[in-house]
Amino acid sequence: MRVASYRAGKETSWGIVVGDHVSDAGQLNGAPPTVRDLLDSSDQRRWLDALADAGARTFPLTDVELLAPLEPRQDLIALGLNYKTHVAETTGATKQAAPPKQPILFGKAATSVIGPGAEIRLDPKITTQVDWEVELAVVIGRRGRDIAAERALDHVFGYTVANDVSARDLQFLDGGQWYRGKSLDTFCPLGPSINTVDEIGDARGLRLTLRVNGVTKQDATTDDLIFAIPEIIASVSSGRTLHPGDVILTGTPGGVGFTRTPSEFLQPGDVVEAEIARIGVLRNRVGIRP
Ligand code: MG
Repeated sequence: MRVASYRAGKETSWGIVVGDHVSDAGQLNGAPPTVRDLLDSSDQRRWLDALADAGARTFPLTDVELLAPLEPRQDLIALGLNYKTHVAETTGATKQAAPPKQPILFGKAATSVIGPGAEIRLDPKITTQVDWEVELAVVIGRRGRDIAAERALDHVFGYTVANDVSARDLQFLDGGQWYRGKSLDTFCPLGPSINTVDEIGDARGLRLTLRVNGVTKQDATTDDLIFAIPEIIASVSSGRTLHPGDVILTGTPGGVGFTRTPSEFLQPGDVVEAEIARIGVLRNRVGIRP
């Protein structure tokens, strides 16, 4: 199933996308009001099944504004350098010459999240080196700590597409701490929907691409991940409790802008499309912060 959050007129709701329509959880008596509430409920499956049933009210997708499919519970957990092609292209900046021996984790502010179709807003007074990073995002659906890799998928609700937009000039300022450059407002487009784990499994073999103004910049598959989903969840949850609504960004493949010759950065008016096969296309225009 594809779970989406949206605004229809003045109302916000969520539902299941089927074809070119999305159902309306607001029509179901007692349904969780948001996807975050759904993830916190012990009846996730029952609500999803009820919403997928014929008879629920639906809207044509053309009549709604899709929002980020969920508000993450807290700052996003992100992996750095999780594709060999990206390790290789960034060695000069990161001093990391070999693939890491364990996942490299950093935080990205939850307040940076925007939905599909919303604008990535640049403030040239703050940064002039804004870069793209297509990533598979994992949405946690069940609480757990010290999760074994073999049980990891039991804790996954589903997957969506992220663009880990990065201010490179800020990213490498703070003694190797990437939080500042990753966390500016609007720097985490998410969406268009969450595809549930029963359909996507461990997310192997999914092609991921990123285009700027129609030109392909990144093109890889999740088979190229250095650490795959089960290992990532085992590592992140080691000594630390994961909660429903936590979101993990799994790293970006090669093809980012700052390592090109000459370097390329996003400019106002650009359109960025991050796509993962079987999940969807996340399209955002770049604008200027007013
Ligand atoms: Mg990234």
